[in-house]
Amino acid sequence: MPVKNRFAELLPDIIAWRHDFHAHPELQYDVHRTAGRVSELLRSFGVDEVVEGIGQTGVVGVIRGRTDSSGRVIGLRADMDALPIIEATGLDYASTAPGRMHACGHDGHTSMLLGAAQYLAETRNFDGTAIVIFQPAEEGGAGAQAMIGDGLAERWNIQEFYGLHNMPGIPVGHFAIREGGIMAAADEFEITVTGKGGHAAMPNNAVDTLLVAAQIVVAMQSVVSRNVDPLKNGVVSCCVVETDSTAHNVIPQVVKISGTARSLDPDVRELQVQAMRRIAENTAAAFGAKAELDYHYGYPVTVNHPAPTRHAIEVARSISADVDTDVAPLMGGEDFSFMLNARPGAYMFIGNGDTAGLHHPQYTFTDEAIPFGASWLAGMVEARMPAA
Ligand SMILES: [Zn+2]
Ligand SMILES: [Zn+2]
Repeated sequence: MPVKNRFAELLPDIIAWRHDFHAHPELQYDVHRTAGRVSELLRSFGVDEVVEGIGQTGVVGVIRGRTDSSGRVIGLRADMDALPIIEATGLDYASTAPGRMHACGHDGHTSMLLGAAQYLAETRNFDGTAIVIFQPAEEGGAGAQAMIGDGLAERWNIQEFYGLHNMPGIPVGHFAIREGGIMAAADEFEITVTGKGGHAAMPNNAVDTLLVAAQIVVAMQSVVSRNVDPLKNGVVSCCVVETDSTAHNVIPQVVKISGTARSLDPDVRELQVQAMRRIAENTAAAFGAKAELDYHYGYPVTVNHPAPTRHAIEVARSISADVDTDVAPLMGGEDFSFMLNARPGAYMFIGNGDTAGLHHPQYTFTDEAIPFGASWLAGMVEARMPAA
């Protein structure tokens, strides 16, 4: 089975929606126009139920299959928000909102899921319920977490979540996925070291905070190299050191070290935090100082579950001959991870061709990818809940 023929017929409409979203990008939770248009279109397709305001501005559509003897419910997710970037594509449908741009292709994701919703509402060739989910604030606002927090999974009894992201550098019509961690946990940390400030010419009367901080920075490099399994991945980077004095003859009282930690495995993530805390506190103690680790958890690791990943691969293979089942993970973050922490599921990359990278001012979503993405989304529903 190649792409679903219906999507060739729907393509001009889907492209028109996409270009309209592209021309009117909205940020974070402030996606009122986009969410309004999504709701209006879902209603026009005859979707059974459209609920707005989940996770502030998220939209949920319910599409019942021809039968429901399975009692199964599959959730499909798209993101709706754009980025604070000045667009430089020169497209005739370029952003009309100064300083805002759909530079991550979420306009494409939303439009593909709308296309899949229209097809599913027309055909209903499945036994169960499809939930189409349009979330705000993927870019740093944890919109998926907000929707989960509003009871998304429980309210509609969603059993599995599937989502996709376009990927520049992968040819159009190709799919790429891997089981396990596919996007990283991206966290930030700050270590506050407190010694005893004083005159630099009388170090015997001080506890040299900067010396302690330097020892901590060096020791931090043992977190990954001496603690993390060499066959797994992690990153701990100390990036900024600030002192409370800029004088040449003052031993500072307080020094702050800040940086980022990345991981592709929830266990590695926790192990790194524990090792960082142990090293910071005990290194400081050894020098008669104090250190405190302030760790800010960002998006969790996006972990593809084994069985859903196999189902996602099967559906992709029914659409395309080119399915990479062991793509290298990306160290960027993705808040679909919150949905995959709530229920099993999988996250797929679809080829966007040879375009500028995600978040680049010249990035463009490739409309030719639409039939592949929409076919995969609709295909997940038909494959996971086959018509009785
Ligand atoms: Zn992005
Ligand atoms: Zn994105």
